[in-house]
Amino acid sequence: MFAAIQAAKEGADVTILESGERLGKKILSTGNGKCNLTNLFMDESCYYSENKPFVADALKRFTLEDTLQAFRSFGLMLRDRNGYVYPLCEQATVVSDILRLMLKEYGVKVITGFKASGVEKKGGLFRVNGEGKQSFSFERVILCTGGRAVPKTGSDGSGYTIAKSLGHGLVPVVPALALLICGEAYFKGVSGVRTYAKLDLIIDGKQASTEIGELQLTDSGISGIPVFQFSRIAAYALRGRQEVKVRIDAMPDISADELYELVRVHRLLTGSCTAEEFFTGMLNKKLMLLFMKLADVKPSQELSELKEHQILRVCALCKCWEVTITGTNSFDAAQVCAGGVDTTMVSENMESKLLPGLYFAGELLDVDGKCGGYNLQWAWTSGAIAGRSAARR
Ligand SMILES: Cc1cc2nc3c(=O)[nH]c(=O)nc-3n(C[C@H](O)[C@H](O)[C@H](O)COP(=O)(O)OP(=O)(O)OC[C@H]3O[C@@H](n4cnc5c(N)ncnc54)[C@H](O)[C@@H]3O)c2cc1C
Repeated sequence: MFAAIQAAKEGADVTILESGERLGKKILSTGNGKCNLTNLFMDESCYYSENKPFVADALKRFTLEDTLQAFRSFGLMLRDRNGYVYPLCEQATVVSDILRLMLKEYGVKVITGFKASGVEKKGGLFRVNGEGKQSFSFERVILCTGGRAVPKTGSDGSGYTIAKSLGHGLVPVVPALALLICGEAYFKGVSGVRTYAKLDLIIDGKQASTEIGELQLTDSGISGIPVFQFSRIAAYALRGRQEVKVRIDAMPDISADELYELVRVHRLLTGSCTAEEFFTGMLNKKLMLLFMKLADVKPSQELSELKEHQILRVCALCKCWEVTITGTNSFDAAQVCAGGVDTTMVSENMESKLLPGLYFAGELLDVDGKCGGYNLQWAWTSGAIAGRSAARR
């Protein structure tokens, strides 16, 4: 939609072919229905790709400022929440509505219910074939079918097949911004817990990434923004059959020594009570009960009967709880895909180096961003560059 608007603004005659019944379905579920459309902290370090200079260059060609300016010029008022940019009314529907209004204003034709199954170049024109018998011919084509995250929104991975059939290589596609499934059987008991934590992703024994934020526990594993942020690294490691673990520090604001000292003094000052009562107030109750269980401490055990090593073990778990990662959410529930069309065969104008006149944009490309508005920013940036370049060619 953004690519079409930019191309039409340049004077091109533009048609959008969309498989769904309406455009912009995925936008509706973004940012929990509020659409976090970009981020004021915009830097290449917020993106992953096998070809990072490609991303850095694109972000300079159509910048954060260009994006804000474009949306303001469309009439969308924006709200900055600690750098995370949303529509002022915090409704994702308005972003989709505004884009549709702009398509109308610039005279873009929209054909819905057309699922492209292939693209071929014939006599200087690109023929886009549909799943039925229908086909359309164009001078230039922008392939921007998204990835395969949440296929019910329309992005079912068919764009990868089309790109491949045109000779473009793919960087393996894995779910990203996804929950991580853990091997431990006890997760049902702690499902629903939310706690501030520092998380270290450990791959084959080596620290691969660190994140801090609100950890969410589910009945199958760990979730929340810090988990989302490194889930794509975990997904590739699992794909390569590496050992993946996460070490969770549920008390990142104090050191292990300080924690133990606090607990030691607390013990001296506490009279007769049960272990459960003694540990109450330190952490989320469900989580503390789990740590007690893992440390072989019965909640009903008298404080006076607790052994030093049991207390040490509970404290150690608060500071370093290790879980084994066995998988990620499926594509059905992941927010984006990592991997995609190899950008070394795509020019800085988003044009195919193999087939001039064919362009790419969005999540289909091997570019994925961190959680926080970066993936939509990539869609706006790559879409604007592709739209303008295709129109000017
Ligand atoms: C639940 C959820 C929340 C998210 N929240 C945010 C957020 O707050 N901020 C953020 O930056 N990112 C967020 N994202 C990611 C962001 O939505 C995507 O990265 C972005 O929408 C990708 O844009 P795109 O245009 O490349 O692909 P899409 O938005 O997936 O659009 C592709 C379009 O192509 C159509 N299509 C696919 N195949 C064909 C075909 N063969 N023929 C015809 N049409 C086809 C699809 O129907 C779809 O309309 C979220 C994603 C999800 C799933």
